[in-house]
Amino acid sequence: ERSDGRERLVSGAKVVAQALKTQDVNYMFGIVGIPVTEIALAAQEVGIRYIGMRNEQAACYAASAVGYLTGRPGVCLVVSGPGLIHALGGMANANMNCWPLIVIGGSSERSQETMGAFQEFPQVEACRLYSKFSARPSSIEAIPSIIEKAVRSSIYGRPGACYVDIPADFVNLQVNVNSVRYVECCMPPPVSMAESSAVCMAASVIRNAKQPLLIIGKGAAYARAEESIRKLVEQCKLPFLPTPMGKGVIPDNHPNCVGAARSRALQFADVIVLFGARLNWILHFGLPPRYQPDVKFIQVDICAEELGNNVRPAVTLLGDINAVTKQLLEQFDKTPWQYPPESKWWKILREKMKSNEALSKELAFKKSLPMNYYTVFYHIQEQLPRDCFVVSEGANTMDIGRTVLQNYLPRHRLDAGTFGTMGVGLGFAIASALVAKDRNPGQQVICVEGDSAFGFSGMEVETICRYNLPIILLVVNNNGIYQGFDTDTWKEMLKFGDATTVAPPMCLLPHSHYEHVMIAFGGKGYFVQTPEELQKSLRQSLADTTKPSLINIMIEPQAMRKAQDFHWLTRSNM
Ligand code: ADP
Ligand code: MG
Repeated sequence: ERSDGRERLVSGAKVVAQALKTQDVNYMFGIVGIPVTEIALAAQEVGIRYIGMRNEQAACYAASAVGYLTGRPGVCLVVSGPGLIHALGGMANANMNCWPLIVIGGSSERSQETMGAFQEFPQVEACRLYSKFSARPSSIEAIPSIIEKAVRSSIYGRPGACYVDIPADFVNLQVNVNSVRYVECCMPPPVSMAESSAVCMAASVIRNAKQPLLIIGKGAAYARAEESIRKLVEQCKLPFLPTPMGKGVIPDNHPNCVGAARSRALQFADVIVLFGARLNWILHFGLPPRYQPDVKFIQVDICAEELGNNVRPAVTLLGDINAVTKQLLEQFDKTPWQYPPESKWWKILREKMKSNEALSKELAFKKSLPMNYYTVFYHIQEQLPRDCFVVSEGANTMDIGRTVLQNYLPRHRLDAGTFGTMGVGLGFAIASALVAKDRNPGQQVICVEGDSAFGFSGMEVETICRYNLPIILLVVNNNGIYQGFDTDTWKEMLKFGDATTVAPPMCLLPHSHYEHVMIAFGGKGYFVQTPEELQKSLRQSLADTTKPSLINIMIEPQAMRKAQDFHWLTRSNM
């Protein structure tokens, strides 16, 4: 009660913000409008960072990346109807990646429901397919407990997306402050351990392996299991292979990393331990011909429903990766064991790595212009700061870039992921830059985009400039999707008719000056066609941390990746 006798009131918007803050949610991305503007204002008031984006989809990608990077979900705040629908892409991507995320959607007034209200849409229902939990609080007083449940659900078990619907009439409605009770911050996710008999069995299968392989997935990165997994690798001298976002859990340049012999390692391993990596398309379903028909899989995952998908595992270890790895370490402490470093398996792997690396180098040193992918990535890798975030998307740009660009730190590579989503790059880069700003100032973000991939969320360059984030965008430009044409061929083609009838669907406008998008908002832009120009502009961009920059790198429009052993799968992520 106030001293003048009138009761103290609080709006629904403020309750939402305070409830989020109480759950230790610290970042909110979104686009304001009716009816959520007040929620964004209230969030800033309670000390949540608010980042205004240009499309809800990119905002949602950014919020989900915060969840992956920090283990605490970010919020994506959207308006009703179309705003929420734009965010569904981000929710789906987060859920597929098993990343925590909270989406808060304003919705039309309850009193106008089914009447054709402004932007009316069945939002709770729509989100169900893209989330673990989707609900609307029944009253303002119920907001804190629904938000606690959403945050808790997003991080407990297999992480994922959660949706909370806030009707317009809740936003400004005032209730007595004393009627709102904030639920205490949810406890950290309980740590579960594998059955001890399964742990014993796993250790024995590993000990008896002739050609063992550990696969480190982004689940291991999310679980912050880097220390224990590294110990296991070094103590038992086992070869390991990171998945795309598993890169950096143990540094790529670790002597036991067999990333450069990926296909060979998968194909001939007889025992494979999966640390937070699903046997989906990224790992070719665990099936022949990419694997031995009788390979023994040991699956470590927090999600019971995942165990046994596509293959019948030799052993399943249900539990938190970090805890389970420690359980395995106990076994190897009790009865020490090492995989012999002079084995034939190591020899096979080392030889393959050497020849693959030599092949990449050979391509990288080709002097022909326009440059090929390998030349470009080789020169980027040369200057890449060891601790930078590497964000990447595009088809060949991402696939080839991953093989050349090294990660030395866990959770420092973000890409199109499980869902193969294009358009994630700028949102991910923005999230990484913000997390870096708060935790490790001075750390830079390198975002390597294909020209097509860049187009999906290109206007977020304005967001990057508005917040002056230390991001270097590299657009690897081949004038198209997978492939494009040079200017002369393009002009020649147009002599035969209208572009809609003669231009192959993969074509984008040749010689596009994407760097001007950055210049338009006050950042630095470079157009480069030679290795020397690339080296120089990258050096300048890395040195000048006062401004974001975009380097538009022209490459051979028909450039492709080097020949693969498995031709029929070259278009897959690996
Ligand atoms: P990648 O794309 O790197 O192969 P996936 O996204 O397919 O990785 O797999 C990640 C797996 O990690 C998911 O099956 C998820 O359930 C699991 N996971 C996430 N967090 C944990 C954790 N803390 N402990 C164990 N498993 C986890
Ligand atoms: Mg392209």
